[in-house]
Amino acid sequence: MKTTKSTKLFERAKNVIPGGVNSPVRAFKSVGLDPRFIKKARGAYLWDVDGNKYIDYVGSWGPMILGHAYPRIARSIHHATKNGTSFGAPTELEVKMAELMTTMMPSIEVVRMVNSGTEATMSAIRLARAYTGRDKIIKFEGCYHGHGDSFLIKAGSGAMTLGVPDSPGVPKALASETLTARFNDVNSVRSLVSEFGSQIAAIIVEPVVGNMGCIPPKPGFLEELRAICTREKILFILDEVMTGFRLSAGGAQELFNIRPDLTTLGKIIGGGLPVGAYGGKREIMEMVAPAGPMYQAGTLSGNPLAMAAGYEMLSILHKQPSIYKKLERRSRRLEEGIRENIARLGIACTLNRVGSMFTLFFTDRDVYDYESATASDTNMFSSYFRGMLDRGIYLPPSQFEAAFVSLAHSDADINRTIKAQRTVFESLLK
Ligand SMILES: *Cc1c(COP(=O)(O)O)cnc(C)c1O
Repeated sequence: MKTTKSTKLFERAKNVIPGGVNSPVRAFKSVGLDPRFIKKARGAYLWDVDGNKYIDYVGSWGPMILGHAYPRIARSIHHATKNGTSFGAPTELEVKMAELMTTMMPSIEVVRMVNSGTEATMSAIRLARAYTGRDKIIKFEGCYHGHGDSFLIKAGSGAMTLGVPDSPGVPKALASETLTARFNDVNSVRSLVSEFGSQIAAIIVEPVVGNMGCIPPKPGFLEELRAICTREKILFILDEVMTGFRLSAGGAQELFNIRPDLTTLGKIIGGGLPVGAYGGKREIMEMVAPAGPMYQAGTLSGNPLAMAAGYEMLSILHKQPSIYKKLERRSRRLEEGIRENIARLGIACTLNRVGSMFTLFFTDRDVYDYESATASDTNMFSSYFRGMLDRGIYLPPSQFEAAFVSLAHSDADINRTIKAQRTVFESLLK
């Protein structure tokens, strides 16, 4: 596979952009390669600047649930640009967007739009602190909630592979307000709550973790967290930036029947444009300015192009719930093929999948938390990743990220992926 143009662009990029990229995982650092610079995308495919074509399982890290350049979404963005790209004043589309979101996710009674998932979680935590008058939060090891200071403590995603789970630059005093528990371990939460209970404003969790690879919650785990929060008057925040509108039309909270106090959203709700949102119980959200005293603002929040893309995306998902059945069927077909490959070739792997999110961990142990995820053989993963990329299969370039199936992945794409994987597995055994 020829990659000379990508390599040249990366050299130029490194000179003027930190590490050559605008977000760390894109650099392919943990798999020992230079990144491919992408020229265009359509449906399930990416094309790089050297003309190589890939079946894409990254999907812009989540938003592309319908596939790239989905015609209805592209049209609505195009149409919106004709009427101006930003007003700094309210629009009807923001009202329609908020109404649709509150209909699809009933735990959200009132919602505020922002510009990224990071902004959503940062604001939600400030709100929880403002509402409860408490300062501490509990997060889980390996969960990622964006790059806000309070969350860069044992964080997942790029922070995990870069080996900086605790970033320099986060004030010690603030870091000490973040308590970390183990995912799928209620006792680790109970002991923090018994020590710090009346100081804890919120527990924030990815209901299905995507950011240390895909890790589902054990039965009862989310329910227990909900019960602890209710008992201790702690706000329960589901970070559905990744799972929202991906695992069902009502998100993970519908799938697991959990009612959080606040929800954070991003990725899919922007239809590929930069968007985030946080929302929840009316009584809590009434704290947000200008309804209440907790300050949070944004020059481009509710941007008309982003709202056009997001509203079209959510309308499609709302009106066609069969999309989730289709996604499940295709994802299951992929899972079955991968399991066949694992069994046939005896590779030490664990596959976790929830709906259209999955991760293949290079360990034969169950993966259910940070520690078991990091037992994976990352060298083996890198070889696997490179082999797949060489065969035109574009996976997340890290052991600790979830891959995504989209509606655009055809049975033929899935079959090609399974076949490529068999060849790569065979070469790994040599
Ligand atoms: C991606 C992600 C974020 C951060 O969103 P950005 O838009 O990248 O700032 C927060 N939480 C979760 C669960 C995510 O997957």
